Amino acid sequence: MTNETTATSKSTPAVKAVQVHKAFGDLHVLKGVDMTVEPGSVTVILGPSGSGKSTLLRLINQLETLTGGSIEVDGEMIGYKYVEKKGQRVLQTLNDKEVAAQRAKLGMVFQRFNLFPHMTALENVMEAPVHVRHMGKQEARELAIHELKRVGLGERLDYYPSQLSGGQQQRVAIARALAMKPEIMLFDEPTSALDPELVGEVLNVMLELAREGMTMIVVTHEIGFAREVADQIVFMDGGVVVEQGGPEIIDNPTEPRFKDFLQHVL
Ligand code: ADP
Ligand code: MG
Repeated sequence: MTNETTATSKSTPAVKAVQVHKAFGDLHVLKGVDMTVEPGSVTVILGPSGSGKSTLLRLINQLETLTGGSIEVDGEMIGYKYVEKKGQRVLQTLNDKEVAAQRAKLGMVFQRFNLFPHMTALENVMEAPVHVRHMGKQEARELAIHELKRVGLGERLDYYPSQLSGGQQQRVAIARALAMKPEIMLFDEPTSALDPELVGEVLNVMLELAREGMTMIVVTHEIGFAREVADQIVFMDGGVVVEQGGPEIIDNPTEPRFKDFLQHVL
């Protein structure tokens, strides 16, 4: 989905992960991951369960902290900044407010939608703009209606989650993330919990977002979506990037582990 200008210009990467390591105690989950995501592009991360895909997304969104390496979002190192101390440049962890400002650039959609069950679709989408951004109720309402229409739910504003299908609930979750005006959207297996007949409507919304130029990182097993929408494929296994390239690598994998994986999901 990258257009000519973004593909050829040397713009600041939307996300740049360099030698990212993450350990949970003795469990070394990410072992030196490099990944660069260009603005306006779609990166699809593939890989078997347990390969560290969610952990990578969670690190980018600062839901976890790095144990090694660095991540830049929009040219800014996440979690840390350099400060002058006695004439020396030292690395300092960001305070909560600074972390929140960085995280505001990212929207995230999970496998489980986590909507508030006692709130309508509209109220779910209004919640963060009102309570996090301190937006006026009327403005938030208009924004929420706009975002719900964008995901095809203009007719379902006053429905409660229990009155919506899984696909519709996931679309509300996408609208909720979009209402915070993120620069980058992270999707962690957004269709894995859905009945097969509901997968397409969610993928279509994501396809539309990609067409509009949204920068997206998508963890999915939907190979058709990857082939059609991705600018970049990143195949992870065992906490490392085993193969990466354009969508054509799906039909021409080089690494045996990637070939093997594709044989199992295709
Ligand atoms: P994937 O999304 O590719 O399936 P994950 O990133 O969820 O993989 O997990 C990679 C490994 O890290 C798994 O072995 C998982 O059990 C482990 N892991 C993930 N989160 C935690 C955590 N908070 N504490 C301990 N282990 C974790
Ligand atoms: Mg996962």
